[in-house]
Amino acid sequence: MDKYFKKLPQELREIIRQACWVSQKTRMPAYLVGGCLRDLILGVKNLDLDITIEGSGIIFSRHLAQKIRSKLIIHERFGTATLILSNNLKVDIATTRQERYPHFAALPEVKPGSLKEDLKRRDFTINAMALSLAADKSKKIIDPFGGQNDLVSGRIRVLHDLSFKDDPTRILRAVRFSQRFGFKIEPKTLLLLKEAIADGLLNKVNPHRMRDELILILKEQHPFRLIKALNHLGALSFISAQLKIDRATRGLFLSVAKEIAWFIKNFPARRQLDSWLIYFTVLLESLTLPQIKIIVNRLGLRKGEEKRMISYYQGRRKIIPVLSKKQVAPEKIFSLLEPLSYETIILLSATSQNKNFKKYLKDFFEIYNGMRLCISGHDLGGLGVLPGPEYQKIFAKVLAAKLNGQVRNRQTELALIKRLVYKT
Ligand code: ATP
Repeated sequence: MDKYFKKLPQELREIIRQACWVSQKTRMPAYLVGGCLRDLILGVKNLDLDITIEGSGIIFSRHLAQKIRSKLIIHERFGTATLILSNNLKVDIATTRQERYPHFAALPEVKPGSLKEDLKRRDFTINAMALSLAADKSKKIIDPFGGQNDLVSGRIRVLHDLSFKDDPTRILRAVRFSQRFGFKIEPKTLLLLKEAIADGLLNKVNPHRMRDELILILKEQHPFRLIKALNHLGALSFISAQLKIDRATRGLFLSVAKEIAWFIKNFPARRQLDSWLIYFTVLLESLTLPQIKIIVNRLGLRKGEEKRMISYYQGRRKIIPVLSKKQVAPEKIFSLLEPLSYETIILLSATSQNKNFKKYLKDFFEIYNGMRLCISGHDLGGLGVLPGPEYQKIFAKVLAAKLNGQVRNRQTELALIKRLVYKT
């Protein structure tokens, strides 16, 4: 197994070494489990480690955090903990548990269990393996459901016949993993998946859980492929029965993908985009604004997320026509685009092919975005101007001059306000 560890970042290899040590000292068996073990075997990059403990994950995590001097977040209610390392690396630590579903699509009842029981509660064979972190060198993979075999054959397979009915979010997960790894959903699993969809179970899950899985879908590398596959299976009706996925949707997804890539390439220092939100907005394109608001509420999107989506629909009507004209003044471009989020602007850009509009957007990102004045009301007060509407007029003139490149710094801004105040 050590050959797999070689592919891990040095920092994670060190954590595994220390976790072996803590496991021995505390006499709590520790295992690497789930997606991180799957990716390790596949040789796929994964910056998260999932460790599960027979004993107490929380006690184990305290020992480990102390040993490696890392930040520790404990989720007392769930009996889990997260170690936060540098470079975006993260270690999740849990206690082995068993789960029982009181009825289909419900949240499971959880109680402590053995490793075997912990693996049995998982979604697919490829995610239901464990690697013992015992100090001896044997480090064998515990694979009760044939996960290694399915990894080699490229198969997504559930562990039992009721899996999708117990937890229908696994329907989205099955499609996600199958697309990500280019795996086939094994025939019987596909039958069970379709049966759960036909029974309407996706609509019985708490919508917030569905939202979380949908976001993961939209964060994948090729979200449209997944959307298409899910639509084909009839698995998107939990969003809306009116949802229409067609060639226009495909075109928009592709166009948005291009805009996102352009933005990331050209402005790497700006804040990270919520690309999933952009794709989600595009996904709902065929619906009316009131329908969209109902979906957004039901799925429990945050206020800020809703605002960014809605401002796109409004901006399409109000902003694109104005910025499609020739020779729009920089202050107009600034005043229309500066209040919008990057996500909204990218959406607007993806929906318009107008050359003028594209050019203004480029200018906005490259020159105007974030432009602020160096002077303040204090400077105007110093020149004897009394606070009131005159302030706003002068500031607007200075900002326009700055956007036009006529003033560049505090000194030239001060010179301009003097000229404006004394009308020289
Ligand atoms: P990713 O690479 O997308 O993060 P992952 O497999 O690591 O995939 P997580 O959502 O982080 O997925 O979950 C970690 C592990 O927990 C999974 O590998 C799986 O074993 C288990 N798991 C997660 N969600 C479910 C579920 N709905 N039903 C059963 N087991 C689940």
